[in-house]
Amino acid sequence: MPIAVSNTVSRNLDRSEPSNSSVGFVVLDMSDLDRYFDELRELGVGSFRDYAFDKPSLADMCFDRIHTVDANHAFVQILGGRSKEELVGYTHLRPLPGTSQQIDALESLYVYKCQFDGTWEVEGIDGRRLILMLGAVPNVEGTPQVDRALFSVMDVTEHERTKKQLSAAENALAKANRVGVIGTLSASIAHELNQPMTALRMDSQAAERWLLREKPETDEAIASIRRIIASSSRITDIVQGVRETVLHEHSNIESFDVLELVNEVASLLERDIMLSRAQIRVSSTAQRTSVHADKGEIRQVLVNLIVNGLQAMTQLSGQTPCLIVISVQNQSAGEVLISVRDHGPGIAISVLERMFDTFFTTKREGMGIGLSICRSIVERHNGQIYARNHPAAGAIVEFVLPTTTDESSFTET
Ligand code: ADP
Repeated sequence: MPIAVSNTVSRNLDRSEPSNSSVGFVVLDMSDLDRYFDELRELGVGSFRDYAFDKPSLADMCFDRIHTVDANHAFVQILGGRSKEELVGYTHLRPLPGTSQQIDALESLYVYKCQFDGTWEVEGIDGRRLILMLGAVPNVEGTPQVDRALFSVMDVTEHERTKKQLSAAENALAKANRVGVIGTLSASIAHELNQPMTALRMDSQAAERWLLREKPETDEAIASIRRIIASSSRITDIVQGVRETVLHEHSNIESFDVLELVNEVASLLERDIMLSRAQIRVSSTAQRTSVHADKGEIRQVLVNLIVNGLQAMTQLSGQTPCLIVISVQNQSAGEVLISVRDHGPGIAISVLERMFDTFFTTKREGMGIGLSICRSIVERHNGQIYARNHPAAGAIVEFVLPTTTDESSFTET
């Protein structure tokens, strides 16, 4: 479509006075450039880009052939000039020399005459680097007028700068997230390994003591050694679990009885429970307790919830029973609810809102990672986890898992 400016628009520009418009208009005389292009066309030059390939100063010389005829006040302001008289006769509108924008623009002008849209980085009259968006304003008469081509010009420097800053900020955030993930991961490994490592050390010391007695207590020593074996395979499971989480592998999905797992964890934590002078009770009225899940991960959830309950009860006065009650119920068809109740001080409202957040802790030595691990494990198994206070005393943290044996119940992440 022809682009040259109509006389009406031109007359309006002539009369343009300072206004609040941020859109600049400029009328350019491109006839000198067009004559030069005609000469090249006659010489059989098909592509200006190819022709200018080994002539580094040609592009800049071509822009010298474009002359400003008229401009509105906004355009003068955009370029940082004082009046349009300062601009008339020269080419202040040109991409920075040596940039591909110069050749791109000239190639476009070579092919389509003054029909041109694009974004140029230019130098203003006051020396500022500007990014301008140019658009050819079509001519109503429909005849190309290379001697009076009208362009609209918008200053998008700030916009482009913000875009650049935004993209730099996004990159920085992505990097920080990666560092954060590594931090979270190491903290989670440290947190999860803490309990079995302590158990390992204590059981080894106990086994040594039983065997060093004058009359070695082999039965007790064997019991300690069995616990050592159980703890070390838990450590292997935890490390494997972290590996799978990182690599998004879920090779350990199996069907198992969650009630059996609860009982297994209760005996696994026997020593911790004893040291806390607590007791543990498991109750169930559930009909269906078979789940299709990663056993190691669900074991980890149970351990975290029980250990939290034990820690909460260390603040108790002598009157309240130091008791953890784990109940396994079928909440609805196809769902099993495992709830871990303690008889500690309960959970403050402000804590309830944030306790599943990563790194949220109210404990002096806490890492604030246990519950966030529990939540991600349960949610990966298409379950849900909640915390609330028991109306009588203590806290309840409970989670629901689907009892289906359908493998699709597990969400690959
Ligand atoms: P940490 O145990 O390292 O603090 P968690 O993510 O396991 O990290 O727990 C986060 C916070 O939730 C705890 O610091 C505590 O304030 C609260 N919380 C968790 N379990 C209980 C509970 N059984 N009773 C009271 N508060 C609890």
